[in-house]
Amino acid sequence: MKLHEYQAKELLKRSGVPVPPGVAAKTVDEAVAAAEQLGGNFWVVKAQVHAGGRGKGRFKEVSSAETIEKVLAGTPVDGKGGVQLCRSMDEVRAAALCMLGNTLVTKQTGADGVNVGTILVTTGADIATELYAAVLLDRQTSQILIMASSEGGTEIEEVAEHNPEAIHKVRVDPVTGLGAWQARQIAYGMGLTGKAARGVAKILLGLYKTYIDYDGSMVEINPLIITSEGAAIALDAKITLDDNAMFRHKEIASWYDASEDDPYEVEAAKSDLNFIKLDGDIGCLVNGAGLAMATMDIIQLYGNSPANFLDVGGSAKKNQVVAALKLITSDPAVKAILVNIFGGIMECDVIAAGVIAAVDEVGITVPLVVRLAGTNAELGKKLLDESPLAIISADSLTDAAEKVVAAVNS
Ligand code: GDP
Ligand code: MG
Repeated sequence: MKLHEYQAKELLKRSGVPVPPGVAAKTVDEAVAAAEQLGGNFWVVKAQVHAGGRGKGRFKEVSSAETIEKVLAGTPVDGKGGVQLCRSMDEVRAAALCMLGNTLVTKQTGADGVNVGTILVTTGADIATELYAAVLLDRQTSQILIMASSEGGTEIEEVAEHNPEAIHKVRVDPVTGLGAWQARQIAYGMGLTGKAARGVAKILLGLYKTYIDYDGSMVEINPLIITSEGAAIALDAKITLDDNAMFRHKEIASWYDASEDDPYEVEAAKSDLNFIKLDGDIGCLVNGAGLAMATMDIIQLYGNSPANFLDVGGSAKKNQVVAALKLITSDPAVKAILVNIFGGIMECDVIAAGVIAAVDEVGITVPLVVRLAGTNAELGKKLLDESPLAIISADSLTDAAEKVVAAVNS
């Protein structure tokens, strides 16, 4: 699960990492109130989207340009990015107006960009040095990897390409964890001394703690800054948590923001279905990932293409089958559906009952081809045959593919 910057900073703060004071806002008024509450005369307004590169990103359209220009008395806002430095309350208001409801395009979002629903208003920091620090899993050595670089602010991929020597890598023994001595060694390795080195070492320990405590798959601070007073602060934060561990972090799971994810996939996840949207026109409902792949292959072989990958799992319940069929039929591109079930753990009569219930509930209007094999297949076929529904029954995978492609083409 990807976290927004303001959520990631909350976790870092809980692990003892200093972050600039900040307040998340969903409206312009909330943003201005946040800046007033923070006080001072320098704020940074930041678009909260899961993609990086916001500072260099650009807004697609300035939705309320007139209002903004009124506020700024003629200052054009075009060309401003997803991180805006503000020196007055009017600039905070203008930045909020520019960002909220607008579409931000960055190197990582693709040309369509992402909609900004939340912004973070933070106290602006005085930057002397920008560094980089991250914790991730090194699958080659099965160890947790700390990456740090004196070249912060730029993407690490770029540093890796142009100046790989600037990246320090330290692997952590999972039994002993990150030692304070290791953290200091990394800080000194980046050329830091004194207060700055101590501050960065402390942040590295907090970063590692965040990764462990919250089951991270990636925790990144870019830039990690040293202020003109020598204090080390996490200015930006990016955290991805392991989806498989979210059941251990109920509070954080509730922070999930689905707005940037595929709506079909979000709906599928609610019913524990493995679903991936594709761009063909034959909807597939299959049990087992391998069989789902084979089903997509054979649809292709017979000259058509699948509208989705869907694995209902080895032991799907009736309500999951209903949810799956609802999901498939909610896609207007679907012209026919192929249900392909091999009953191993799963019983074919359960699938048949699910199909009948779903057709009843959803009112499926496209041709539906069903192939059942394995446990209780005969019972399942009998249920389908006895129902008044117009279901096309198939005996083999080839037969099913031929029938569903023919149904689409007729
Ligand atoms: P990203 O572009 O999505 O990675 O967003 P960041 O939070 O990393 O901000 C991008 C850049 O904006 C940073 O590298 C800084 O140069 C600048 N920036 C962000 N916050 C501040 C701040 O508080 N003060 C100053 N002076 N610059 C900032
Ligand atoms: Mg950044």
